[in-house]
Amino acid sequence: MCPSCNMSITTRVEHQAGTMTLILCFFVSIFVLCCDFTKDVNHFCPICQRRLGTYRRPCSSRITFIILIYLIILIIYIILLAMSDSHHYNG
Ligand SMILES: [Zn+2]
Repeated sequence: MCPSCNMSITTRVEHQAGTMTLILCFFVSIFVLCCDFTKDVNHFCPICQRRLGTYRRPCSSRITFIILIYLIILIIYIILLAMSDSHHYNG
């Protein structure tokens, strides 16, 4: 039920990039944009276009931990890649 127009409706759901998304975007842009688990979800009434609610995804510690591990591996990989590159060019 929509509280505005009192019609029995199915809310229109829109995914919006939240603060959490923007922070993660800085580190793992493509990965985060592909799966939208950090995005805020807005519910809209399809009749009167009123926003009925926003569901903010909780910043799960497990997700943060996984991303942290992913970043560490990525940084180590970049360092190793840079090292092998410099060796290659130096001789
Ligand atoms: Zn409505």
